[in-house]
Amino acid sequence: MMKTTQTAKKAKNNVIKRIDILTLFPDMVNSAFQESIISRAVSKDILKINCHQIRKYTTNKQGKVDDYPYSGGPGLVMAYQPIADCIRSVSAECDSTPYVIYMSPQGNPFNQKKAQELVQKENLMILCGHYEGIDERVLEEFIDEEVSLGDFVLTGGEIPAMAVADCVARLIPGVLAEGSAEKESHTGLLLEYPQYTRPAEIEGKKIPEILLSGKHDEIEKWQVKTAEERTKLKRPDLYEIYEEEKLNSQTYYFDNSATTRQADVVTEEMCRTVKFLYGNPSSLHHMGLEAERRLTEARKTIAETIGAAEKEIYFTSCATESNNWAIKGYLEANPRAGKKVLISATEHPSVLETAQSLTKSGYTVGFLPVDSKGIVDIEELKKAVTADTAVISVMHVNSETGAIQPIKEIANAAKAINPNVMVHSDCVQSYGKLQVNAKALGVDMLSVSAHKIHGPRGVGFLYVKDGIRIAPLLCGGGQEKALRSGTENLPAIAGFSVIAKQANEKIKEHEEHVKELNIIFREILTEEIRACNVISSDECCPYVLNVAFPGLRAEVIQHSVEQKGVYISVGSACSSHKKDRSPTLTSMGYNNNVIDGAIRISFTYQNTAEQVKFAAKVICAEVKKLYARRKGRR
Ligand code: PLP
Repeated sequence: MMKTTQTAKKAKNNVIKRIDILTLFPDMVNSAFQESIISRAVSKDILKINCHQIRKYTTNKQGKVDDYPYSGGPGLVMAYQPIADCIRSVSAECDSTPYVIYMSPQGNPFNQKKAQELVQKENLMILCGHYEGIDERVLEEFIDEEVSLGDFVLTGGEIPAMAVADCVARLIPGVLAEGSAEKESHTGLLLEYPQYTRPAEIEGKKIPEILLSGKHDEIEKWQVKTAEERTKLKRPDLYEIYEEEKLNSQTYYFDNSATTRQADVVTEEMCRTVKFLYGNPSSLHHMGLEAERRLTEARKTIAETIGAAEKEIYFTSCATESNNWAIKGYLEANPRAGKKVLISATEHPSVLETAQSLTKSGYTVGFLPVDSKGIVDIEELKKAVTADTAVISVMHVNSETGAIQPIKEIANAAKAINPNVMVHSDCVQSYGKLQVNAKALGVDMLSVSAHKIHGPRGVGFLYVKDGIRIAPLLCGGGQEKALRSGTENLPAIAGFSVIAKQANEKIKEHEEHVKELNIIFREILTEEIRACNVISSDECCPYVLNVAFPGLRAEVIQHSVEQKGVYISVGSACSSHKKDRSPTLTSMGYNNNVIDGAIRISFTYQNTAEQVKFAAKVICAEVKKLYARRKGRR
């Protein structure tokens, strides 16, 4: 609520000097500040607290401050005129325009953070309502903020006003003994540690021994530990925020091509769907229809992100499933399409192994070679495509190097030779980061996974161009137009659609930010380590940076930087389950000495330049140590 008319006088300093409380019961409020700490602060002139009787400002003879509500019902409402005159008159006395709050159960929750905000207002005015409340027009005209002490109702605003004034006043420097407010409950995210006073033992109860040790460092550790324990026990809600902040401040996560941290908007959407849309989208009752509506909406949102029609999007459990299904499903539905499958030499195992498994069924698999930058050689592709080629699968962005394949050119070249060839692209590392438009890429199918763009794990989709025949891998209840049976994972699909929309709307903005991070990272590494071999070329997708430290072992680098909170991955492994080298770097012409020392740094738009600088310095320090150790051994 913003007040509209008071003329602003500029606040001169950022600590509260004066609190004015406007009330029908000033004696009640005054009594709270005539004792103890606050009264001493007032007598030392650190702070002024004034209570004002609103009734003094009535213009009617009876001194009436309230009237019946126009909407009927019991109770009386405090009228506009006396409050307005009281606020104007008290404001005129203040050195700067007061910040006016109204104590109301409808207001913003009052907590330590709010108190810290309010203590920075030079003049604070607190309006206390009574009876059924106050005329709404007072709120519109004069009130900067409504503040609530909690979800309960009192007979008036006086008790909350006293609580707010007390809490704010004790934050003014000089009111409490120095340092007393620093380690209290709610000052940070933890509740305060336990307190003891003399004697050290009473009725057989001893204080913790550490407090008698005189070891200040140890005592401080004990304070943090006990504060954490009791916050976890008494306020798990606060502890969760504390844990998250602690994790974020100590984690330098650069393994975003492996997976990303799920976005809060996704978690919120998933929780909403779990709670309210738990009907099965296949059920014919209202709950089912509601769930189906959300499913359709998600499909539409996702289809729009790649310029496809809703009917061309099939939800799956992950991109591995999408890749398997695209290739196997197409060949099963099109047995006369040919007996040859072509894939690039740098495909993800979910494509590579799917293709290789087909050899058992009589298919041959051809590998399209790549150049030193990891890009498919179009001339070689032209030589490889024949009338017998049924499928070509080439990933859009390489997960290890960030190399961007010319998918449109590949599709055009292949279809010029064999118009019936089905072109599939694994777009897992490009979706939401680069523009992925099914038509612009010229593909018949494309695969995507949600967890690479801050979406949930366990959901992906396969785009199948209208008119392309595909057989199901999963048969059963007939979901996804009978092509992918199994009850849809609606919470994950809904969460995915939210982040898909957001990521696709911000592609350019995020890309520019990540490009800068990538440049900073590579500059620090190459400037500090002469042997650093940058594998990802400047034309690569900036979300991935693959660099090698020849002669070192990437796993050793990975584990040593992890000790400092920096998370990266090995630059050339099929997956963490398979320790053998992936073919990507080999096919780009690198020798094993380089390949074994390759690390992959992968970014998200959430990374910051500070994180990059810290992580790059940590990597440099560890790499220098490892090189020095290696030299010492020779
Ligand atoms: N394709 C590429 C290029 C990938 O990077 C990954 C995951 O790392 C996958 C497919 C598999 O994705 P999912 O984890 O959704 O099965």
